Amino acid sequence: MTTASELKTSAQEKLESIIRKHGYHDYTWIDPKNIVVSQWVRMKCMFGCREYGHNACCPPNVPSVSECEKFFHEYNMAVIFRFGKKVDDPEDRHKWSRQVNMKLYKLEKEIFLSGFERAFLLFMDSCCLCEDCTGERETCMEPRSARPSPEAFAVDVFSTVRQYDFPIEVLTDYSQEMNRYAFLMVR
Ligand code: SF4
Repeated sequence: MTTASELKTSAQEKLESIIRKHGYHDYTWIDPKNIVVSQWVRMKCMFGCREYGHNACCPPNVPSVSECEKFFHEYNMAVIFRFGKKVDDPEDRHKWSRQVNMKLYKLEKEIFLSGFERAFLLFMDSCCLCEDCTGERETCMEPRSARPSPEAFAVDVFSTVRQYDFPIEVLTDYSQEMNRYAFLMVR
């Protein structure tokens, strides 16, 4: 009889081939139990982020922190993807985020269609598929492909990715290299 860990390994192998086919190399597998979900992250969204109330995939258009925590407990595998980038013009980071997130959505879609019904992606940045976000779930212009960021789901990205030796620091200048992270949840 196939054991649970053998099943997980064969699923990972299948997923690896899809992930690599899509051109990703800078990523790691993690146990979703190690995803740190914290109330302080939600506070940062509420007080200090201009996306709050203006992005249809950001708070307050997302589940509560405890619901997010429950959501992560429903998975037994996850992948963290790292994206590093320096931009000459700070405004170029939105275009970069859009390109990265659209590509990630295609990856999630293929994984879902391969039989992983729970596949769910947390974008590298707040959803910026459209130039102007409607700010409400009900009027979202791309409801099938819009996804929240890890931060919108209260993930303490700093504490989570540091467990895997990924680089991340508070940046003080737009000329510094950004290290951004997307999460793919699978089971
Ligand atoms: S798809 Fe467009 S409207 Fe919907 S959340 Fe993303 S940016 Fe906003």
